[in-house]
Amino acid sequence: MQLPDLYQKASAFEFLSLEEGVFLYHHAPLSELMLVADELRKKQVPHGKVTWQIDRNVNTTNVCIANCKFCNFYRIPGHPEAYITDMPTYRRKIEETLKWGGDQLLLQGGHHPDLGLQFYVDTFKQIKKEFPSIKLHTLGPPEIAHITKLSKESGGEKSTYREVLIALKEAGFFNTDSFRINGTDITPLEFTSRLLVSEWKLGPEEEEFTVMKVIIKGARNGKPLTVQYDLLDRYDNASKLSSMSRTTGYTCTAAVNLILKNMFLEKGVFPPELVGKDKKCFDFVLEYLARRKVNWKVSNN
Ligand code: SF4
Repeated sequence: MQLPDLYQKASAFEFLSLEEGVFLYHHAPLSELMLVADELRKKQVPHGKVTWQIDRNVNTTNVCIANCKFCNFYRIPGHPEAYITDMPTYRRKIEETLKWGGDQLLLQGGHHPDLGLQFYVDTFKQIKKEFPSIKLHTLGPPEIAHITKLSKESGGEKSTYREVLIALKEAGFFNTDSFRINGTDITPLEFTSRLLVSEWKLGPEEEEFTVMKVIIKGARNGKPLTVQYDLLDRYDNASKLSSMSRTTGYTCTAAVNLILKNMFLEKGVFPPELVGKDKKCFDFVLEYLARRKVNWKVSNN
């Protein structure tokens, strides 16, 4: 394969094969490629006029879970600097673009875990409705792959963490039966933990939530009875306390108050379930949590 033959073939508007393209990539000097490209350009656009397009880059959101190591732009969900561009901002930026002769928006953004297809459809529709002349150059392949993944995982709706965890569980990622890889015994749970723990590590001031469900099955007056407690608490922006520290910490201070108020007089070491056997103590702790907006509800069946 010779470079001049390939240049000649390209100059005659003949398609190059994959192998010829790879050969050019590895061996052709850039200046020679530029020369051939310029000759082709002259043949196709003989008037020699140079044109350009004025467009503006606008980021749809800086929230991203792709975690590209080189990226200094993205913010994790819940980060104080995270944003989703709103319509007033689009309007201002588009009006400025039109004023300076621009006619295109290049919309790029992070892989937001909650923004699925409908969000983008609505956003683009609204922009086109208000600015019909503006061209939208949007969504690169990784963004489309991400949106498709969100849609597929939940039949068109965004997936929840619960759904993802169930899918992982069903796929065997949490199994505890060990198997041998390259001479080492390992369980899927150990393997999954290694992979996921660093990804799930909470960042400073990252919003999170705590969910707990307690189901008690028994009988009352000879009839089967199920009592269910559901607890949900979220990161508190005002105090910057995580839900986990709120639900565990307030439970501890509630226990201290039981002692201070002489409601619990036993001596020795008592786990919570024994303290909770006393209905007054149990109700006190639950009310204490509710007053601090650690939400729970109880239902009987
Ligand atoms: S996908 Fe884009 S925004 Fe997200 S981390 Fe990678 S480079 Fe950054």
